[in-house]
Amino acid sequence: MSDDMHERAVRLSDKRLVEGLTPAERQELEAHLESCAPCQERVRATEQALGALRSVLPRFDPGLVLASQLRARARAGELMERAARMRALWISCVLSWILGVVSAPLLWQGLRSLVRSWALPQPVWIAGLALVWMAPAAVLAAVVVWRQGRSASLPEEY
Ligand SMILES: [Zn+2]
Repeated sequence: MSDDMHERAVRLSDKRLVEGLTPAERQELEAHLESCAPCQERVRATEQALGALRSVLPRFDPGLVLASQLRARARAGELMERAARMRALWISCVLSWILGVVSAPLLWQGLRSLVRSWALPQPVWIAGLALVWMAPAAVLAAVVVWRQGRSASLPEEY
């Protein structure tokens, strides 16, 4: 017997385990195995190894698998939604920063004229400028911290 015949028998044996054989292929394999002890031994060893592997593999409840898939998809959706919210937050932060930089000279001029008309000391109007300039960011930061603390204290849905 040639090596090709043995290789073909091995391939047919593997194909039988995975996708099945046509009647002609099954007949060819059986005819070869009847006359070839090494191939017969290999097929038997492969079937034993598969049997051992199947006995070791854990079996999962289909309901549990479905529930896990649903949770994973829901979590992926939450992460995508959070990423979209963070993107919007970053865009608003950049716009806020640009607006702050653009409005700073105007605010400076306005406060300066107010200070001159009211005759306030320099530390007072500098502190006022800093307060007015930082107040929107401080309020937003407080809101973000408050919302994060609130969402962390909510009970888990799952
Ligand atoms: Zn053989």
